[in-house]
Amino acid sequence: MPYAFANLQDASSLADYIVDKRLSVLNGKISRYPKRAFTCSDIHECDCYMLHSVLDWDKRELHDAGLQAIFDAGNKEEENVKNRIGYELGLEFVETQSPFEIKNRAGEVIASGKIDGKILWHGKAVPVEIKSMNENSFNMINSLDDFKKKPLYRKYLRQMQLYLYGNGQEAGLFIISNFRTEKIILVTLDYSECEYILARLERLWEMKKKGTFPTPEYKPELCDRCPFSSLCLTDVSNKPADFINNEALEEKLTRREQLLPAVSEYKDLDEEIKATFKQIPHAFVGQSFEITGKEQIRKSVDTKAMPDDVKAPYMKETSCWICKIKQIK
Ligand code: SF4
Repeated sequence: MPYAFANLQDASSLADYIVDKRLSVLNGKISRYPKRAFTCSDIHECDCYMLHSVLDWDKRELHDAGLQAIFDAGNKEEENVKNRIGYELGLEFVETQSPFEIKNRAGEVIASGKIDGKILWHGKAVPVEIKSMNENSFNMINSLDDFKKKPLYRKYLRQMQLYLYGNGQEAGLFIISNFRTEKIILVTLDYSECEYILARLERLWEMKKKGTFPTPEYKPELCDRCPFSSLCLTDVSNKPADFINNEALEEKLTRREQLLPAVSEYKDLDEEIKATFKQIPHAFVGQSFEITGKEQIRKSVDTKAMPDDVKAPYMKETSCWICKIKQIK
């Protein structure tokens, strides 16, 4: 039996239904989970974050529906990649989402995690971690060194290193996807990096047991979108807020939000393009761009490698104002 024709009102109400329902489905998936130990996929660069993530998991600011949609797409893409590489290439994925634990010297589980799976190759299982990302990030990552460029990708490195270490494996693969195609990046176990991560986790674990926190240090690239910033910036959040009615200021804030995606796109493109021109001293692109480059030696002190007692006499306190802007509507 043929269906009746829909009119404008039907189409319009269907559109509204899809938008509302999709939002409510996404919102229904957003939640917090109790944590007893650190999570290997979330070894953050901030010590405060690490401690809040376990001690204050129930106060973590919930992410929004947009980010949930990205997580969902990433999970779906993991299945798609397994299908493309597994089913279509005839390779077998085993031990998918296999859990692993990291223990301290006292045998306590201080971190736990999962790896996406292993591919059977000549009778041996090669660990693989699948990461999907947008086109700009995908283009930017061509080697393991490129993972070091952003806090999020540095977390991926730590996760893989902990997995390799925890399972006594020499090497694994990152499979990165732009939702259409893949790049394969070889990762080898780096003992010195693992020792650094483990020593840090053990130190943080002892702080977690005592419930102590270090003094938060404001770093825009980490703090501005941190789900625990309201706990760190308590001085501000415990005082009553000022209400300012200033349309021009509100417009500027709105415009600032609109420009935000362009900033991150600019940064990604800038890194990708500059990586393309590495070791090329002089080039023209079409008739519009001239690109020059030269090798420069920079001297720096690796403060992370310095023992605390050596650093202590040079420690100085400076005051700065931390301004965090969050769009609430
Ligand atoms: S707001 Fe900044 S200092 Fe505080 S937990 Fe987050 S990243 Fe760390």
